[in-house]
Amino acid sequence: MSEWLEVGTHNYVLVTEGSLLNTGLILGSERAMVIDTGCGPRQGREILDAVRRKTSLPLVVVNTHPHYDHFFGNAVFAEDGVAEFWAHENCAREIDQRGDLQRGQVARLEPQMSTREGKNVELVVPNAIVKDQPVLVDLGDQTATLFYLGRGHTDGDLLVGTSTTLYVGDLVEQGAHPSFEDSYPEEWADVLRHISALRHRYEFLIPGHGTPCSDQFVKTMANTMSTAVRQARQSIRDTPNDATKAIPVLPYGPEQSRWFIKRLQENWRSSLSSS
Ligand SMILES: [Zn+2]
Repeated sequence: MSEWLEVGTHNYVLVTEGSLLNTGLILGSERAMVIDTGCGPRQGREILDAVRRKTSLPLVVVNTHPHYDHFFGNAVFAEDGVAEFWAHENCAREIDQRGDLQRGQVARLEPQMSTREGKNVELVVPNAIVKDQPVLVDLGDQTATLFYLGRGHTDGDLLVGTSTTLYVGDLVEQGAHPSFEDSYPEEWADVLRHISALRHRYEFLIPGHGTPCSDQFVKTMANTMSTAVRQARQSIRDTPNDATKAIPVLPYGPEQSRWFIKRLQENWRSSLSSS
């Protein structure tokens, strides 16, 4: 059974079993906001049931970014009457255009989601869009600020701040290496420094997975990433025909190091071709 942890007044985090997703909950006097909905109808239902043990208020949903464990549960919430699904514009576009391609990832965790059988397996594309300017969502006696700090873990990572708490999605991951598959490593390190600079405003920082983090944790993550970018760049320069030579020197596991190098190369190529 998943448990709510209080992280600031009327701010909560639900640490779900399995993928250890952190779902946020912010209670206002008129509405409540749910941050990330799980990887399919089974986990979405578990999250909604947990939310309903806390509040009977109408809900709004935020998807922090377009990875399946953060939005595949949306349909459960739509069925419960949620009409407002917030996301960054790049996140909404990705879910709309390529969300279906992620169904294969949940064959084991959510077989119905992967085969599109049964209830609440349709994708619900976010319809309340944040661009580069912050958006304030009034929940009644509590305001959530939705904002974007640039590309990082993906090109559509949305942050959610309240008077006490900052929910950062997978921009910060505790207890596992960062996931680089859709990332922009050089820009991500800058986003982490920006998050760290905001820390005086928030008592609690809630990562997408794992336990609440300290400012120092975020700084270390940023510095590690910047160092890794320098190391990889040097290795690629030394052995341009075999970038995998950089893998052993990088501070991440072999699988994530491979992605890290791949993404660095792709991003450099696309910046060369656009300049
Ligand atoms: Zn992610």
